[in-house]
Amino acid sequence: MKERLLGKTPEELSILAQTASLPAFTGKQMAKWLYQKRERDLDSMTDISKAGRERLSEKYEVGQARPVDVAISSDGTKKYLFPVDGDSSNAVEAVMIPEADRKTLCVSSQAGCKMGCRFCMTGRQGFHGNLSSADILSQFFAIDEAGELTNAVFMGMGEPLDNWENVKRAIEVLTAPWGLGWSPKRVTLSTIGVLPKLRQYLDESKCHLAVSLHNPFPEERLEFMPVEKNWPIKDVVALLKQYDFSGQRRVSFEYTLFEGWNDSPRHADALLSLLRGLECRVNLIRFHRIPDFSYSPAAEGKMELFRDRLSSGGLTSTIRASRGEDIFAACGLLAGKNKSR
Ligand code: SF4
Repeated sequence: MKERLLGKTPEELSILAQTASLPAFTGKQMAKWLYQKRERDLDSMTDISKAGRERLSEKYEVGQARPVDVAISSDGTKKYLFPVDGDSSNAVEAVMIPEADRKTLCVSSQAGCKMGCRFCMTGRQGFHGNLSSADILSQFFAIDEAGELTNAVFMGMGEPLDNWENVKRAIEVLTAPWGLGWSPKRVTLSTIGVLPKLRQYLDESKCHLAVSLHNPFPEERLEFMPVEKNWPIKDVVALLKQYDFSGQRRVSFEYTLFEGWNDSPRHADALLSLLRGLECRVNLIRFHRIPDFSYSPAAEGKMELFRDRLSSGGLTSTIRASRGEDIFAACGLLAGKNKSR
């Protein structure tokens, strides 16, 4: 099997070019083809000599995975299905969300997930492996809107901090001047709070952060989110309080509202006291029913009351619009493997 070039830095490309008896500057040329021109075929990199391209092709390929399926929602949201390591039976999903002034890609970082959150279809599947940086980046480079994307959220299938090295590499390609050159403000990583890696993320990147919180009471959060046992949300919040979110970088908390589980004034007050002293906002998310899980979405009026209670306590919160529900592309519904259809 050939080694994939997608995800490599110009320095790494330069080293492998020299092993194929090409000049060191070929690394920069290749990076331009891979990331700025989104070229899929080594043989089309025409400023590299034909003999050089042939030598490279013996060992390497661009490695851009192509989507095997796409579903389009009535609201314009598009869900792409990608093979993992060339294997379509182990597929992941990427969701493109168009808005008036932006196009955001919701990216997967793992096939399945180890974290086992009870309200999430991906969690139900179990874990089938980390995505390589080439498979993460293919989601950006191989879709119809590749040249029009403005933002990325690592909120698709998997826990991105459980695959931090490959996610970090993908973020480097998105934000480096030799890659897509995006500002880190255009990228948000969402985590349930994998504490040791969270510190690394905060130290090694400048991108925004979203934390899946869902319940401020430890024993209740544990009912739905096994992660609470090893990395309690209070420790996650304590770590975040050591960092500065008053400038360019933002932290938000995701809070899905379930009828009768976490939608009471008592929960809103506990949330206010947990997050007091941290510059942040809360996104309230409408729950989408999934099979074999008896909880219901909180009523619209309850969501508004919850939002207003947080706001009057000084915590900015918004009810997030749901997108792509008709193609099972909304939060918690990504399942891959054509299971969602
Ligand atoms: Fe994994 Fe996120 Fe689903 Fe939890 S919500 S099981 S961390 S994909």
